[in-house]
Amino acid sequence: MSKPLDVMFHQRMLACAGLYQGKLDGGWGKKTDAADKAFHTEYLRLQSIGGTFDPRTEAAIMTLLPKAQEKARQFMQVAGSTCKLLSGTRTYAEQDALFGQRPVVTRARGGSSNHNFCIAWDVGIFIDGRYLTGAKAGDDAKYDELAHKVKAHVTGLEWGGDWKSIVDKPHYQLVTGKTTAQVRAAFEAGEPFI
Ligand SMILES: [Zn+2]
Repeated sequence: MSKPLDVMFHQRMLACAGLYQGKLDGGWGKKTDAADKAFHTEYLRLQSIGGTFDPRTEAAIMTLLPKAQEKARQFMQVAGSTCKLLSGTRTYAEQDALFGQRPVVTRARGGSSNHNFCIAWDVGIFIDGRYLTGAKAGDDAKYDELAHKVKAHVTGLEWGGDWKSIVDKPHYQLVTGKTTAQVRAAFEAGEPFI
């Protein structure tokens, strides 16, 4: 990966992956560079085991913590080629930018979405070249079917379609057994939490 804009965010992710033991200082030094290379090597290793998917899905997977990458590949094996990962990780700044968008696309500010901790992704289903946005009758059922298949075959995932307050059917994330506040604290300290 080329040097990311938000180096601090990237260092936290590398530290949570157990690949970086240096300071979380936002500076791109030798240790960060080595950890980034190790992260990419791990991405390729997991890809060789879990299969390679379409470019957009791969780009999203690459933004996840290695344990989430593994789950995302299991997810994709079950979901099949009509499904793509549309997005993965967002930095706090990217989340805040999304939060400010109108019409509303998210109710989560930076640091309060699991997309900010490298363990969540959103999917899209494409049938005959049409992206099922949820606007047409029957779209929802396809997302329900997908979740049903995924639940039967992949453990350790939480589906946004099961949420009570804001139902989010394209959303999947790793089960952490922790509160968002606990995950956030661990992520910011660079401590592994999954
Ligand atoms: Zn999401």
